[in-house]
Amino acid sequence: MRIDIITIFPKMFDPVLNESIIKRAQNKGKVKIFIHDLRDYSSDKHRKVDDRPFGGGSGMVMRPEPIFKAVKKIKSQATGQKGRGLPSDRQSHKSQVILLCPQGKKLDQKTANRLAKNRHLILICGHYEGIDERVRKYLADEEVSVGDYVLTGGELPAMVLTDCVVRLIPGVLGDKNSLNFESFAGNLLEYPQYTRPANFCDMKVPAILLSGNHRKIEEWRKKQAVQRTKRSRPDLFGGKKWIK
Ligand code: SAM
Repeated sequence: MRIDIITIFPKMFDPVLNESIIKRAQNKGKVKIFIHDLRDYSSDKHRKVDDRPFGGGSGMVMRPEPIFKAVKKIKSQATGQKGRGLPSDRQSHKSQVILLCPQGKKLDQKTANRLAKNRHLILICGHYEGIDERVRKYLADEEVSVGDYVLTGGELPAMVLTDCVVRLIPGVLGDKNSLNFESFAGNLLEYPQYTRPANFCDMKVPAILLSGNHRKIEEWRKKQAVQRTKRSRPDLFGGKKWIK
């Protein structure tokens, strides 16, 4: 997979992309991530990418030209790169252009699974008061929000989206079973996890987990998952049969 991120704050991405699983995924060649400074696409001599809103009002709006230019360039670069040993059988060749936007569809595991099947994602990070409407209307294939709150920019949402998509790419996680048995894989949250020591300051691990009886452990975990989902996220159950 290839992910291109368009931003006016490229340095924000360094620490996130150069650590942990995302870094390993890049080193293993599972994903290529490119950060583009939107100012490089500005025709203004001061590299400005924003302007005042037509009709008045507060704040500045990001201009459409640099964003359209950046997406066009990235698409042409990516087209030149297609077919270079990337697994194409499960991936669409189309570039999916995503605008990070609080008005978009809320990101969830289902959306992450769908996006992980794409060969190429282009993420556009807004800033200021927002982005010229023509980007949304004529350039973006979809808009994704990370929740019902407003952030100062699309950089953190782009990192969130990148992280949750990259870990779904086959071969990125060491144990692919961890994807099948985690929160939101079905309609249950994950069961409680414990590790050593079995007794920490008199807080004990449930005895069943130390019993070695795998059938009983499985039953206990299922029950715990049901209980905590009912308690914390009854909306996930949605009146349907529990599945996991
Ligand atoms: N004026 C806009 C509105 O009311 O919808 C909010 C603009 S926000 C201050 C600036 C940028 O941050 C947005 O263009 C978007 O890229 C990003 N952003 C803010 N909150 C977000 C969220 N919840 N999900 C995704 N992106 C968000």
